[in-house]
Amino acid sequence: MTKRQVNELKELFGEKFSVLPETLDRYSRDETSHLEAMPEAVVFAEETEDVSRLLRYCTDNKIPATPRGLGTGVSGGALPVKGGILLSLERMNRILEIDVENRMAVVQPGVITGELHKAVEEKGLFYPPDPASLESCSVGGNVMEGAGGPRAVKYGTTRDYVTGLEFVIPTGEVLRVGGKLRKNVTGYNLIGIMIASEGTLGVVTEITLRLLPLPAVRTDLLVPFESFQKATRTINEIHKTGIVPAVMEFMEHRALEIVEAYLDSKLPVPGAGAYLMIGLDGVDKETVQRDYEKVGEVCLENGAVDVFVAETSDMKQRLWKTRRSLHDALHHLSPEMEREDVVVPVARIEDLLKGVDGIRNGTKVEVVAFGHAGDGNVHVNLLRGKLDRETWKRERERVLDELFHLVVSLGGTLSGEHGIGVVKKQFMPLVTSDAERKLYKRLKQAFDPAGILNPGKII
Ligand SMILES: Cc1cc2nc3c(=O)[nH]c(=O)nc-3n(C[C@H](O)[C@H](O)[C@H](O)COP(=O)(O)OP(=O)(O)OC[C@H]3O[C@@H](n4cnc5c(N)ncnc54)[C@H](O)[C@@H]3O)c2cc1C
Repeated sequence: MTKRQVNELKELFGEKFSVLPETLDRYSRDETSHLEAMPEAVVFAEETEDVSRLLRYCTDNKIPATPRGLGTGVSGGALPVKGGILLSLERMNRILEIDVENRMAVVQPGVITGELHKAVEEKGLFYPPDPASLESCSVGGNVMEGAGGPRAVKYGTTRDYVTGLEFVIPTGEVLRVGGKLRKNVTGYNLIGIMIASEGTLGVVTEITLRLLPLPAVRTDLLVPFESFQKATRTINEIHKTGIVPAVMEFMEHRALEIVEAYLDSKLPVPGAGAYLMIGLDGVDKETVQRDYEKVGEVCLENGAVDVFVAETSDMKQRLWKTRRSLHDALHHLSPEMEREDVVVPVARIEDLLKGVDGIRNGTKVEVVAFGHAGDGNVHVNLLRGKLDRETWKRERERVLDELFHLVVSLGGTLSGEHGIGVVKKQFMPLVTSDAERKLYKRLKQAFDPAGILNPGKII
């Protein structure tokens, strides 16, 4: 950016514009390990008009603009890798409406996901998407990454709840599409195109979300198995009962060991090769109890060592704290790490984990797996630990290459919820055809003719 441009932007945005070194430094990182990129300036949007004016200015002056929610992304999506302006949406953080009659919420993009949960639950409603980062990520970031969480196995991901969007395209035009509508096939599905577009097509300034009635009863089970094979086979057997658990998470023993050491607290289960954490919910106690008894039976028939029912709220909280702390615990153990979130058809999870075991045995990198096994989305984490830089770099690349080839051979793909960003874009040719990537480029051109919005991401 030139001095003239800095002065013009100062004039346009006043205190919403910053070039202070400490501000630039703060916005040069997200939660992607080993990556940073310094913006030349930061703009804090407070209303849609700020976004529109900024994008128009950036298009006219060919300055890159990178949108950012709360910077918890793990694929580098919010990093201004081509410099230019970092556009923060964190001040647009109001819940505009909770419409109980229509079971809809209208929010600004910077609302913290966990705050939305609390607000709708106070009114007896339920917003299911629950990324483990829910206390620190934004709804706008969730929409732009298509975020999911443990409850996706029954309730789907963010994609399944967005019924309306207001967004600004790089020419500065403001579009309002959809609304408080549960059905809508009017025109092209622009909402579908925007979701998980990682801030490369437009900047979201308002979101309308479908809500559900809050389930009255929830129970969680923790089930240890001798081996991951037994645990993953059980997942398929549970699917066959016709009961749809709200949560079906998988944890290798090593993952539990790491998180227990981090929290300095142990769950009351025996050491085992793998664990399933199964959550069941419903309208009344009897139904939920019947379901969890049946699921417990299936687990025991398939080799579970035991079945622990978290009946007290204290035990439930401990279980969830353990699950939600996994990312932080791994990061604490190895600040440099690679968090992959590959996804395969649910019936191939066992093959995936077998393949991951093979990869683990052939490398010095520590590989720890856990995740949303109920929907085929497994987090495979590579920890640098004490490896020297050279070995880590070489092994990381090799392991990632092997992992992605394995996933593709199982009919899976690169990311179920974290997005492509900068960290996985070199692998896109593995899972997309030339024709598909050419169409992406034409689509990008239609939204962003000057190529200023979040350049360097996805393709
Ligand atoms: C400890 C931890 C646990 C996690 N667990 C999960 C999990 O369980 N499930 C899951 O899905 N993810 C998880 N994540 C990843 C991350 O929290 C999600 O991707 C989240 O959706 C990012 O939200 P954010 O507000 O931090 O977005 P940011 O990181 O700020 O941005 C993410 C992307 O969205 C774009 N963007 C943000 N806001 C807008 C907007 N208003 N308009 C246009 N583009 C925008 C950015 O340019 C960027 O490409 C986890 C991360 C951490 C650190």
